[in-house]
Formats: sequence, structure tokens, C-alpha cells
Amino acid sequence: MALMTGEEYIESIRAMQMEVYMFGKRVEHPVDDPILRPSLNSVRMTYDLAQLPEYRDLMTVISPYTGQRINRFTHIHQSTEDLINKVKMQRLLGQKTAACFQRCVGMDAFNAVFSTTYETDKKYGTSYHENFKKFMTYVQEKDLTVDGAMTDPKGDRSKAPHEQADPDLYLRVVERREDGIVVRGAKAHQTGILNSHEVIVMPTISMGPEDKDYAVSFAVPVDTKGIFMIIGRQSCDTRKREHTEIDVGNSEFGGVEALVVFDDVFVPNERIFLNGEHEFAGMLVERFAGYHRQSYGGCKVGVGDVLIGAAATAAEYNGVEKASAVKDKLIEMTHLNETLYACGIACSAEGRPTESGNYMIDLLLANVCKQNVTRYPYEIARLAEDIAGGLMVTAPSEADLRDEKLGPVIEKYLKGVNAVSTENRLRILRLIENLTLGTAAVGYRTESMHGAGSPQAQRIMIARQGNLAHKKALAKAIAHIKED
Ligand code: SF4
Ligand code: FE
Repeated sequence: MALMTGEEYIESIRAMQMEVYMFGKRVEHPVDDPILRPSLNSVRMTYDLAQLPEYRDLMTVISPYTGQRINRFTHIHQSTEDLINKVKMQRLLGQKTAACFQRCVGMDAFNAVFSTTYETDKKYGTSYHENFKKFMTYVQEKDLTVDGAMTDPKGDRSKAPHEQADPDLYLRVVERREDGIVVRGAKAHQTGILNSHEVIVMPTISMGPEDKDYAVSFAVPVDTKGIFMIIGRQSCDTRKREHTEIDVGNSEFGGVEALVVFDDVFVPNERIFLNGEHEFAGMLVERFAGYHRQSYGGCKVGVGDVLIGAAATAAEYNGVEKASAVKDKLIEMTHLNETLYACGIACSAEGRPTESGNYMIDLLLANVCKQNVTRYPYEIARLAEDIAGGLMVTAPSEADLRDEKLGPVIEKYLKGVNAVSTENRLRILRLIENLTLGTAAVGYRTESMHGAGSPQAQRIMIARQGNLAHKKALAKAIAHIKED
């Protein structure tokens, strides 16, 4: 079974025994919870689209390891074409879900761990790369969704992991045994972990020799004993419990994040990819972050396409689509959105093979991509709100619209152009609300800022990769400067 159907995926997650908490209670059936289910549907789309002939080349690829057709989300990139197709696939998924579809973190972790384990083994004679390839083959054969867990809680940001008052604020090895290790700690903001079969854990920063116990990477099933998750709240999340469709804005899809606790979790030797080789922690972080910064040049662009389409529809329903000011705003939104895409494609096209043979994006361009993502979706959202008008936040509820007395009043007074029903007008405004202020704003706004690293993290990389010395030499050559 190299490709699961969407239904098989849902059932495979249902069969897992995850420990999930929300609103102070254990969620016994996360798959059927109305707040959580839309996020599962988003991941399901990565399976559904892979079944369709028209998306076969984008969504699937032949694995060089298993020889089978696999989902691209489990692929180790073999070329710049693979890198480009990854971004195109993510844009497509963003368009189909208007949400975070979560499966990219695992894909980005696979590719970062693949090359880093190769280089660690070369230096230390360890067997992490073989461990990882076995894990990877298993993931490809079963078509699994894997979460990539990097962000530790971090406590006092001015202190290294080993200097923290509470040593668990970075995930660490607490026991080394013959057959494996025991780890303790937590990972924050874990996108889609409860919709994943497995989790790959990675360190979150570069580390020195005293942080050895924190330089650890491994994979375990998400329902391993000792792992539990506390779901993060999203603005307007409980609307999903109200059995309304219009008020939710995007009733079918969503994203979800959780704080994941590793309470003395055992990891067998064959699932360990880094264990104390502290100087490779930084490499792993830099590569994973680089890939995920590329990812945002696809997924956020796809969601941006939906938002631009929603704004244009709202304008049409208001009868202002031909107004030059509105047209100009839509052009600006498109320009910003395509600029993000251009960066995603550019860092892919400029990719290079690593020592292990898989392909890595251009790090400078990937960081420029993500830096733009920390800004442009905000401007696109601002323009969408501008076009939508105030009704997107003052409209009555769906219950009022369905009410015998109030419904006709709402129909009458909140109508736009005559040919369009008030209900359709409210639907598109609620979608804009969802993307800019509601549950999807987590993915489209704040995640654009902080996901894959906050803006300053990209600026550090841009400074490191920008090669100012070369640029100075160019200027001096043009100016005929000779220095002794
Ligand atoms: Fe994928 Fe984007 Fe969600 Fe990251 S934020 S997991 S790249 S959809
Ligand atoms: Fe993300």
C-alpha cells in the first residue's frame, strides 16, 4: 500500500491511541471532534489529491528507495525539479483547503535529517543515516503523515539549554540504555501533530558541548507511551461547535497546533538520528528551517489565492468590481502574492545537491522568501478587509438569518447587488473574516510571522548568506580602488 486513500488515512488516525487534551478535558475521539476535524480534513486532502489522475505528477513521484509510486509529501528531493514541484504542490493544497494542511513539516524534516545524518555518520562512524533510511522507507511504504517537531519552549532566551533553571525547557536525553534512550521535554506550536502517525523530533538551536544531551533527533509513533498533547486555542474556535456553516467561514478545513509533552519517552536505538553530536544540531536546524521557509512560498500563496478571490467576489457582490480603486487593490494583492511565489520557485530552482545526494534549496533565497512572508500576507489581509467593508465583522449570525422573523429583514437590508442572495454575500464575508481574524488567521497571519522561524531568524541567515565581502569587492573594482 504505497498510496492511502483519504478514507484509509482517516481510519488509520482513528485507530491510534493518542492522548489529547482540550479545554481541560481529555478528547476521547479527536477524529470526530467538531473543533479538530477540519484540521484532519486538510491533511486528508494531501491523500485525496494524490488519487486524482490530473494531479498525479505533482502529488506523487517514484521513490528511488522503494521503486514504488509514493506521495510527494514523503519524498526525498532528487533534483531542482522536485524542489519546484514541492512548492507547486503546496500552492495547490493551499488553494484547495484555505488552511494549513500540516504535512509539509514532516517532508521538510525528512530532507533535513537525510542529509545531516549522512554528514554526522561520515564524521563519527555512527549509523544514523541507515536508521533514517529504514524509517523513511517505512514511511513511504505506509504513506504516513509525520510531524516535524523542532520548537522547544526555550524558557529564558538569553540562556543556553543547559543553563536553564528548569532543565526540561529544551527536550533532552535523561537516560541512555543498551537498547535506546529516554527523553523528556516538550515541543511547542506543533502543527498537525494530532493528525500525524509519527513525529520526528529535532533540536531547535545550535548547541555547544555542554548541551550534548539536548542534541538529539529521533522518530516515534505519536501515540507512544509518555507523549501527550494540549491543543492550542484559536480565535473563534468554538463557532465550530455551534453547528453553523456560514459563521465558521471555512467549515470543512482548518489547521491545528498543540503543545506536545514528552514525559520520559523511550526511543529504541534504530529510531535515533542524532544523540550527542552537538555540532550537527545547528546544521539540522538550518536545513529544516531552510526547507520550511521555502514551503511558505507555496502554501501561503495558495491561501492568498483564495483570499484574493474572496475579496474580488465581495467586491462583485457589492457592485464595485469595476471601480478603479478596487481593481488596483486586487492588482496589488496579486503582485504581493506572486512575489512570494517567485521567491519559493527561485530558491528551488537555485537548489544544489547535498553530500548525501538529496537536493537542498538556496538558503539565502529561501530566507528572503520567508522574510517576505512575514510581511506580505498582512498587507494582502489589510487590502481584503478594506475591500470587504465593515459588514465582515458586524453581520448577524446564521441563526438570525434562518430565523422566521429576522431572516427576511436580514435578506432585505444586507443585500448587495440584486442578482446575488444575501446569504452568498454573508458567506464570502465570513470566509474573509475566517482568513484574517478567525481560526485560519493562525495559519495565514501569525504563522506567516513566526512559523519556520520569526523574522529575526531570517535576518540572521540573510546577513550570513548575503556575502557582503563579495559585494564590497565588486564596488571597489568598479571604483578602481586599490587597497594595500
Ligand atoms: Fe505546510 Fe504551510 Fe502548514 Fe507549514 S504552514 S505545514 S508549509 S501548510
Ligand atoms: Fe508552519
